[in-house]
Amino acid sequence: MSDLPYERTIIGMSALATMEGAYQATLDYVRDRKAFGKPIAEFQNTKFKLAEIATQIKVGRAFIDRCVEDLVAGKLDTATASMAKLWGSETQGRVVDECLQLFGGYGFMSEYMVARMYADSRVQRIYGGTNEIMKEVISRAL
Ligand SMILES: Cc1cc2nc3c(=O)[nH]c(=O)nc-3n(C[C@H](O)[C@H](O)[C@H](O)COP(=O)(O)OP(=O)(O)OC[C@H]3O[C@@H](n4cnc5c(N)ncnc54)[C@H](O)[C@@H]3O)c2cc1C
Repeated sequence: MSDLPYERTIIGMSALATMEGAYQATLDYVRDRKAFGKPIAEFQNTKFKLAEIATQIKVGRAFIDRCVEDLVAGKLDTATASMAKLWGSETQGRVVDECLQLFGGYGFMSEYMVARMYADSRVQRIYGGTNEIMKEVISRAL
C-alpha cells in the first residue's frame, strides 16, 4: 500500500513521456507528408491540434515534475499521486488519439509507432488501480 503513490507517479510519468514521444513523431510526420500539394503541417487544423497538444504537455510536465520532486522528498500524498495517474492517463489517451488522427491511414498500421502507442495507452487507465478508483481516492481527500 505504501508503494502506491510511487506506482501512480510512474504511470503519470510514463503518460507524459508517451505524449512527448507521440508529439515529436507527429511533428516529424506532418512536416514530411504532403496532401493537396503541401505538407499537412501547414493546414490550420494541424497547427491548432499540435498547439493544443504542446500546451497540454508543457502544463503536464510542470505537474508531473512537481510530483516526482515531492515523491523523492517523501512528501507526495496519495491523492496527488492519484491525480498524476488519473490526469496523465486520461490526457495520454486523448493526445495519442489526436496524434494518430494526423497520420491518417498509416496511424492504424502497427508498423507505425503511433499505432502501438495508441494500443498501449489504453491500459494506463486500468492498471495501477482503475481511474474510477483514482476518483474515489481523490474524492476522499477533498
Ligand atoms: C497489463 C496489466 C498489468 C498489471 N500489472 C499488475 C501488477 O503488476 N500488480 C498488480 O497487483 N496488479 C496488476 N494488474 C491488475 C490491475 O491493477 C487491475 O486489473 C486493476 O486494478 C483493475 O482491477 P480488475 O481488473 O479486478 O477490475 P475490476 O475491479 O473488476 O473493475 C472492473 C470495472 O469496475 C469498476 N469498478 C470497480 N470497483 C469500483 C468502484 N468501487 N467504484 C466504481 N467503479 C468500480 C472499475 O473501475 C472497472 O471499470 C495489471 C493489469 C493489467 C491489465
